[in-house]
Amino acid sequence: MTPAAFLDRDGVLIEDTGFPHRPAQARMVPGAWAAVRRLNAAGFFVAVVTNQSGVARGLFGEAEVAAMHLWLREQARAAGARLDAFAHCPFHPTDGTGAYRRESPRRKPGGGMIEDLLRFFPIRREGSLLIGDRATDMGAAAAAGIPGHLFAGGDLDAFVKGIIP
Ligand SMILES: [Mg+2]
Repeated sequence: MTPAAFLDRDGVLIEDTGFPHRPAQARMVPGAWAAVRRLNAAGFFVAVVTNQSGVARGLFGEAEVAAMHLWLREQARAAGARLDAFAHCPFHPTDGTGAYRRESPRRKPGGGMIEDLLRFFPIRREGSLLIGDRATDMGAAAAAGIPGHLFAGGDLDAFVKGIIP
């Protein structure tokens, strides 16, 4: 059982340009793959945990989320880094229509995505951490009982270097 690094996606791995949902729109954050390589080398399972309410809002579909995450996984591999898992929450409690308009324990600041990953993969809570760029990310970390680190931009690898042992 290894600890996990839970990474927010938009604003941590890729720039948060406002519901990015196609690889062509993705601008990597400086140092993103070096940061993931560093986490890999330090023995962390690396999982992306991302609210994607753009699905609820009708801006894009689940297929685009899946394609984006496949692309990110391939980009990581090409850079010698490894993204082990992805979790996303397509719901929104008040915006959008239909089945995606609902509360979800998986939506950050809820801890549901982290809890699901802890259940599905051979990872342990102790020693795990989360990196996010919003208060809702910190809320999800707190809900899961792990430290949350607020990334305010800049070089992600320099940030990670400062927080892991
Ligand atoms: Mg974010």
